[in-house]
Amino acid sequence: MVRCDCPFCRATYEMESIDPGATIACSRCGNTFRVAGPVLHLCPDCGRKLSPHAAVCPHCGRPLTSDAAAQQENSFVNSAVREAWLRLVRWWSRL
Ligand SMILES: [Zn+2]
Ligand SMILES: [Zn+2]
Repeated sequence: MVRCDCPFCRATYEMESIDPGATIACSRCGNTFRVAGPVLHLCPDCGRKLSPHAAVCPHCGRPLTSDAAAQQENSFVNSAVREAWLRLVRWWSRL
């Protein structure tokens, strides 16, 4: 959940997701405005403000993004690669 405010009339919009820099037409005042980053994210469970990059809510622990799991997998792969690399370097230094 993402929240942004219309800079003209202060109407608040809550949407599933907004790209920073996206243009939004305000249905209240009719102006169009560009979303200024960083966009405020809200936890769908506890409704508290979150960092746009938070994969898990720091307040209630809810996983927030569908790619949070993918990101975790990525970092796992990265650490596995790093681990393999370090082992290789250690092996080389023994030669
Ligand atoms: Zn407006
Ligand atoms: Zn939460």
